[in-house]
Amino acid sequence: RAWYPGHVQKAKRQIRENLKKIDIVVIVLDARAPVATTSFEMKIFKDKQRVFLLNKTDLADSEYNKKWACEIAKLYPTLLVNKDTKRKELLTFLKSVPTKYANPRIAVVGVPNVGKSTIINKILGRHKAKTGAQPGITRGVQWVNVEGLTVLDSPGILFSEIFSKDIAAKLLLIGSLPIENVDDEIFDYAFKIYASAAGVQKDIVQFLEEYGRSRGLLKKGGQVDYEKAKTLFFKEVSEGKHGKLTYDTDFEKFWEVLKNG
Ligand code: GDP
Repeated sequence: RAWYPGHVQKAKRQIRENLKKIDIVVIVLDARAPVATTSFEMKIFKDKQRVFLLNKTDLADSEYNKKWACEIAKLYPTLLVNKDTKRKELLTFLKSVPTKYANPRIAVVGVPNVGKSTIINKILGRHKAKTGAQPGITRGVQWVNVEGLTVLDSPGILFSEIFSKDIAAKLLLIGSLPIENVDDEIFDYAFKIYASAAGVQKDIVQFLEEYGRSRGLLKKGGQVDYEKAKTLFFKEVSEGKHGKLTYDTDFEKFWEVLKNG
């Protein structure tokens, strides 16, 4: 559990407090890893209207985007989005969510780095500021009225509660785990998942050797600086610089994680 951050309890308490007032929970997933980004404690939302945004579709495999959207839409209102999605499309979707409330109160939640702040900014028609919010910023929570919706102006930050190597590796690949907290076993496993999705035949040592050399990431003696190469490579992968790849492809697993979380 080395990658489990210490501020989780605080973030959880804040979400629970705000939850009482919320009618619709907008769960943001990363389209590259819909299972891994659903691996949080879902029970806290069980009596809420839940909807899903599959975000960062520009970084994922376009065929899988469609497949995932169809699958999740079997049970929940679902929309494929990315940073270029028009505000109007997002608002139309949110306003179409079935609810018994006249001015439903909406919160945007998800694991770190899936794009919650970007989505809140878009809903509110704000062009910048407040991205990359940290847990704890929630003090002085604000509700903002937007076209008949009452939106919580603060992302609900959730943390993975299901500790499997597979989920940790995929969270690493999409930039949802701080690289410093990850051990070598997870790096190796994440590389295998990446290589399989990208059709890369090399192992991590071979690959980083060539990658590090090509980027000039060398130590004094001229050997490749493996740590630097590893850090830069995984950062680039999470930013989509090594292909539009979808790592989660198992629909059954999604429903299982959703049910158990
Ligand atoms: P949060 O931690 O969930 O609030 O995520 P942010 O909204 O801060 O976004 C995290 C990073 O992902 C930022 O660098 C955003 O610019 C970037 N980002 C957000 N949405 C998208 C998207 O749809 N596509 C791409 N390529 N990047 C995105």
